[in-house]
Amino acid sequence: MPVRARPLMVRPGARFACAGDGLCCTDAHLLGPVSPSEGRAIRAEHESAILREGGMVLLRTKRDGACSFLTRGGRCAIHTSPLKPRTCHRYPFLLTATLDGGRIGTDHRCPCRTMGARPLLRASDAEPALLGAGGRLSVDLRAPESISVSAGRSVSWATWRAREAALMTRLDAGERVESVLDTAPFPEVRDGSWPQIGFELADDDRPMRWARAHQWAGDAILALHGEPIRTSRPRPWCDAFDRAQRRTPELLSPDAMLADWIADAIWTLEWATRGSFALARAELATRVSMARWVAARLEAEGTRLDRAMAEAIAIVEMVGLSETWTAVLARVSIG
Ligand code: SF4
Repeated sequence: MPVRARPLMVRPGARFACAGDGLCCTDAHLLGPVSPSEGRAIRAEHESAILREGGMVLLRTKRDGACSFLTRGGRCAIHTSPLKPRTCHRYPFLLTATLDGGRIGTDHRCPCRTMGARPLLRASDAEPALLGAGGRLSVDLRAPESISVSAGRSVSWATWRAREAALMTRLDAGERVESVLDTAPFPEVRDGSWPQIGFELADDDRPMRWARAHQWAGDAILALHGEPIRTSRPRPWCDAFDRAQRRTPELLSPDAMLADWIADAIWTLEWATRGSFALARAELATRVSMARWVAARLEAEGTRLDRAMAEAIAIVEMVGLSETWTAVLARVSIG
């Protein structure tokens, strides 16, 4: 039986509702691509709002990395207009087709996903955002039918599901993430070293917010390897997290936030499309240690604990999408 998009499934316990914190309308991800027809419609009314890059039609960002439609109050100026692109409606969802049906995943860069009292996510809430231009579900990823767990060893989907369920139970029960992942961070990298990777990220001086996330991630790697780092850095998405903090008086446990992030990272199976679970565990353990370092540094600056972890997760999730990180994973010596 091939992988399929239905029935739609959410990970039990996943919580999300858009509170309009506005991070998703900045360069925390690619703003687009929009379809050629969406691009033409937007350009007809807002000539400079669209650009072409690498064969894609994108929403143009301002110098501060925000979409040109993002208002000072953090709202989308075309929210109620038919011009609002499908890709904006879709964020922060991801749809992975599996043998059981479509798994709905969520990005954790967004404080609407990580902070505050969010309602449980229901598939019916996410479904309209997951439809493509023809009104059919649009799939982002197709999970392999057998899952690679280590070098040269794959298991059936049913065997993987049982193993995954055991991991999720431990994460839900509040077991420390590091113990559930049960592997050391910073696996050996062929033809390179973690401090070299740290310097490369820390030196990213491009004028975008995601480059600041790279700098923080680079600092985390360097500090965790005993290398000197800068004494301060600008924070990439402070404005969005300011808004999130204002709307969320309640404190969430940073450990629970980390567990929620890791559970979704496992659930989406994005890792299974590029390597084994052994590689995924080591990669996640690495970014967990970086997130803890960033969160501790933000706490030391006086940041509220849950916000510090939410910002740390945004930073390490962002760096996981970078070309540098993809190149690193290709050189990791692990099964
Ligand atoms: S068009 Fe609106 S929703 Fe989309 S990125 Fe811009 S401000 Fe955000």
